[in-house]
Amino acid sequence: MKKCFLILMSLVTLVYRTTAQDYLPKWKEGYMDIHTVATGRGDATFIVMPDGTTLLIDAGDNGKLKDPQHPDTTRRAGEWLAVYMKKVMEDLPDKENIDYALITHFHDDHMGCVRQMLSGPNGYGLSGITLVGEYVGIGKLLDRAYPKYDFPSKKKVYNANKGFMPEYHKFVEYKVSQGMKIDKFNVGALNQISLQNNPSKYRKNFEIRNLAANGEVWTGKGEKAEKQYSGDPKLFDENVNSCAISITYGDFKYYNGGDLSGGNWPIYKSQERDMETPVAKVCGKVNVMKANHHGYYDTCNGFFLNMLSPDVVIIDARSNNHPVSSTMARMTDPLVWPDQGEFYITVDKAREKLSDELWQFFKPWGHIVVRVYEGGKEYQMFVLDPDRVDYPVKYKSEIKTVE
Ligand SMILES: [Zn+2]
Repeated sequence: MKKCFLILMSLVTLVYRTTAQDYLPKWKEGYMDIHTVATGRGDATFIVMPDGTTLLIDAGDNGKLKDPQHPDTTRRAGEWLAVYMKKVMEDLPDKENIDYALITHFHDDHMGCVRQMLSGPNGYGLSGITLVGEYVGIGKLLDRAYPKYDFPSKKKVYNANKGFMPEYHKFVEYKVSQGMKIDKFNVGALNQISLQNNPSKYRKNFEIRNLAANGEVWTGKGEKAEKQYSGDPKLFDENVNSCAISITYGDFKYYNGGDLSGGNWPIYKSQERDMETPVAKVCGKVNVMKANHHGYYDTCNGFFLNMLSPDVVIIDARSNNHPVSSTMARMTDPLVWPDQGEFYITVDKAREKLSDELWQFFKPWGHIVVRVYEGGKEYQMFVLDPDRVDYPVKYKSEIKTVE
């Protein structure tokens, strides 16, 4: 009888553990979680730092019906993103407000757009970041061009996201009147985005470096930045102006550079569009990298891959060109980059174009969570089901030691 009871109890424990492991275990102080949220309509990365400080990098909604949307189309991408963030924030000290939002550049798939825009109660349209702002408070907003929005020219900034920039300006004006702070992203700065809850505890092992924006790159010395462009606006598009950052926690390092270019796009041959090479020189080795520009033609050049040598590559995807075959082939070619990492992707739209040969490199797709454990010595990858709002785990890796 006693034996039967013990077997029953171990079965109960096993069932309990299996069930408990179906969801991402709760965040706790000391963990850094990096969520790449799979809306299917644009980029969004929500980061919870070790003391609970929060940062949202981009809140895209390109509004294109041909691109998949997860979990479904009953709400706009910005609202689904907010639903996800709210779920994460259940474990945090502040459940209503995030500390920072960073818009890497002014393209629709990073900030929202007029297509499918909802009308809002405060005089501006709701899409992407302006829609997220309806559900969570934002402590400080950073973008590449505040307050003049004139680099490389006012017209270029306006044309980067026609019709939506005036809505964004009205959103900024309204939110600032309600107490939100806003700053221009300062290239080269150390900890312009900083821990808000317990900075002294992590002073020695946590930092955020602003690597690049507006064609300028950190020099690697102090907080100085250097221009990488001649000043000819014809050589530039909005992507090249993207804000790039690295986050270091203990031995762990993460890179996110929006849609920065690596200069190898056949239609734009200018080497001035290669921001990856100077960024790679000052960034160095990382453990986890969000591939620039969704893994499109112009990104992830060989030098960049070698220098960053990521153990994990994340593709924040929405179209069947994310990533393109040539970039995927380069990323998975051991002759280009000897230390092959693991590959993660948010949506499966590129599966057919890539064919099984290249698609097989990816882990199951969905919301991608990097959980960095206390002190930044170990981390683990989780993929959560993007078609359910209880976000069960689709895949999880072994715990990896940071080398
Ligand atoms: Zn993009």
